Amino acid sequence: MSAITMRDLTKVYPNGVRALDALDLEIADGEFFALLGPSGCGKTTLLRTIAGLEVASGGDVHIGDRAVTNLPPGKRDVAMVFQDYALFPHMTVQENIAYPLRIKKMDRRGRAEKAAETADELGLSALLQRRPGQLSGGQQQRVALARAMACHPQVFLLDEPLSNLDARLRLEARTFLKRLQRELGVTTVFVTHDQAEALALADRIAVMEGGRIRQVGTPTEVFRRPANTFVAGFIGSTPMNLIDAEAQDGELAVAGTRLPMPEDVRDRVSAGEKLVYGVRPEYLDYSAEPVPGALSGQVVVVENLGSFSLVSLDVAGGDVAGAAGTSVQVVVPEGREPEPGDTGWVVPRPGRSLLY
Ligand code: ADP
Ligand code: MG
Repeated sequence: MSAITMRDLTKVYPNGVRALDALDLEIADGEFFALLGPSGCGKTTLLRTIAGLEVASGGDVHIGDRAVTNLPPGKRDVAMVFQDYALFPHMTVQENIAYPLRIKKMDRRGRAEKAAETADELGLSALLQRRPGQLSGGQQQRVALARAMACHPQVFLLDEPLSNLDARLRLEARTFLKRLQRELGVTTVFVTHDQAEALALADRIAVMEGGRIRQVGTPTEVFRRPANTFVAGFIGSTPMNLIDAEAQDGELAVAGTRLPMPEDVRDRVSAGEKLVYGVRPEYLDYSAEPVPGALSGQVVVVENLGSFSLVSLDVAGGDVAGAAGTSVQVVVPEGREPEPGDTGWVVPRPGRSLLY
């Protein structure tokens, strides 16, 4: 087990794409760490650079106290699970799991024992003689994990390992993976573009955009206090409301109303300053009656999401997210939903709004 440290890590591909841009990151020993970001932001490149499958253009990588930047993949003591599992189709499950041990020149008997033991831990014992083509997606994924685990690496690198599973299996595999990581305690870097997966699994998350890291924090930190509007818009099952605002007389003018200036920013905001007011749909309360300190508007869309509805209102003022003009979204519990066309009021819960 080992920490991973990246300093000033840069990767420019031969075609000129700067996939990693002077990136600094520290992943703690034993941590379950998620790299989260939209497609193309550099997640796979970062993972492959840690693994040694890509050569860094600049900067360095340490695993534990070893500088590995110039080591080939086989000398880094890491194991990677690829998005498509990359199992050998002509080999049995047992041979697949034992493959890295063969590369490490372990004898036949040792390999068979180790493969059987690892298969047992992952519930694959009954499948040892099958070939990948005879397995379900979930089983293939476990074989890929078993192959990675078999030689007890110091670091696990998992590139979207759940993305090829259907929704239900993905949830099962997620729980399984979390339990496994806890039991093994191996430093694990988990790549995903799915914010819910990152929040559910990780001890800490790095949110990436354009080859850079925009925020690192625990799931609670990135959810409650996103450091910028990019993270605010990316984290959460419904995007945060981001509304143009202006500081006026110690208050905040937002969407045609005035709200108290949040205490923590009072000292650093000057009069007339243009800001972006951020509040999650979950942290707004809907009212059918006028309420002081509320934003008011007309209900345009009511989406039933089971135990709650997501209600969109058109309010006065600008919306920097640019999606639906001046739309604000609010989560309303089952049974209290308004109808489209209703006039409604939304009140931010104290301490739950942010300014950018
Ligand atoms: P992600 O995994 O977050 O989707 P990638 O690391 O795959 O992102 O890609 C980051 C950027 O680098 C993208 O613009 C992608 O097109 C580019 N890229 C990835 N691999 C290569 C490559 N082998 N050659 C050139 N450009 C690449
Ligand atoms: Mg990728």
